[in-house]
Amino acid sequence: MNEFDIIIIGGGLSGSSTALNLLRKGYSVLVIEKEIIQNLKPCAGGMASSMKKFLPLNIEQAIESKIRNVEFRWKGSDKVLADLSGESPFWIIKREKLDQLILDEALRYGMEIIRPATAEKIYKENEKWVISCSNQFTYKSKYLVIADGSQSKWAAYFNLGPKRPKYADTIALRLKGNGYIPKDSVRFEFGFVKHGFAWAFPLKESVNIGLGTFINNSLLTDDEKNNEIIRSFGFEDLSFKKIKKKLRIWNGFHNLNIDKVLVVGDAASLCDPFLAEGIRPSLISSFYAAESIDKCLSQKSDNLNSYSKDINNHWGKSMAWGKRIAQVFYRFPKTGYQLGVKRKTAPKRIAQILSGEMSYEDIAKRVIKRLLTKRED
Ligand SMILES: Cc1cc2nc3c(=O)[nH]c(=O)nc-3n(C[C@H](O)[C@H](O)[C@H](O)COP(=O)(O)OP(=O)(O)OC[C@H]3O[C@@H](n4cnc5c(N)ncnc54)[C@H](O)[C@@H]3O)c2cc1C
Repeated sequence: MNEFDIIIIGGGLSGSSTALNLLRKGYSVLVIEKEIIQNLKPCAGGMASSMKKFLPLNIEQAIESKIRNVEFRWKGSDKVLADLSGESPFWIIKREKLDQLILDEALRYGMEIIRPATAEKIYKENEKWVISCSNQFTYKSKYLVIADGSQSKWAAYFNLGPKRPKYADTIALRLKGNGYIPKDSVRFEFGFVKHGFAWAFPLKESVNIGLGTFINNSLLTDDEKNNEIIRSFGFEDLSFKKIKKKLRIWNGFHNLNIDKVLVVGDAASLCDPFLAEGIRPSLISSFYAAESIDKCLSQKSDNLNSYSKDINNHWGKSMAWGKRIAQVFYRFPKTGYQLGVKRKTAPKRIAQILSGEMSYEDIAKRVIKRLLTKRED
């Protein structure tokens, strides 16, 4: 039987970056990943460049566009432009490349990975986790990290995160060419998708398009309408592969660890419930997961509770406001667009949110302050 300090279930972004953070601290890590390789990840790749502080490697090769402008439209018109220059830029990365870079770096540090394989049975024996896998092998570890994404089976098994997770319904596609999307611009399209929005993020030679609904369990089942939205981004050839995915979104403050096990990334329901941003919380949770496991293994702490606290503080507080904003905005999107996007100072604030300089919490506080002092900012 093979023994490791940590076993991670799921080798996506959060699993592999947790592995890399732990390996760099000198621990032995095994990753169990279900897929052999994923050629197309359903992710548009929008990422605040400020997040590089959570990545212990250079990811320049994965960056396909550096964004200078954010464009908003209401049903194809009523354009609002937010200028990102002067703020920390927003990057579009190719997720397949980013995930591969992190995995390769982790392998260089000695990570072991078994793929394709799934964990079939997990139990504790003499203070260690015992994991039997679909490849008939059994592995042991001191700590366990759950990183099996939005369709996580193991988060519920360990009672981690919300009991009844909330999901955004999404469609992802990658189209060749750039359509109407300039190389240094992203476009957010409101008004067409009920209870959600559509987005178009440019890569070097293609565009990642996404459609998402965020409240009331709305589904994206109207193909004709979906195609109309895609055409509005400047694409006529509709013979493309669409990937449908249910994305777990943030839904309250929850415990994300128990004794010697914790959950990261989508499996922990950390995705932004307003804009579907999941790369940032994946990297943040991977960072704090490695910090708390390190504290326990190096005897500086005897439990992982600091992990749940850190995530709730550094991410949850902002998401609580993101959820409130989403519930109002997607219920009354036209008013939301007029008041939230078309206000004079909105473009700057939106740029600050996307670049990670400001949180939803900061914005909400400003709004409350403005109401109290009745002055324009
Ligand atoms: C359409 C769409 C567009 C998006 N666009 C953006 C964006 O522009 N910016 C942004 O910040 N976020 C975006 N996101 C969110 C972002 O993609 C996710 O939050 C991020 O991928 C989460 O990474 P993860 O590692 O937690 O999960 P995943 O990337 O889903 O990885 C989970 C891994 O676990 C493996 N796995 C699953 N079950 C098992 C099992 N039982 N055993 C072993 N392995 C298993 C899977 O094969 C997978 O490799 C988008 C999401 C969608 C759906």
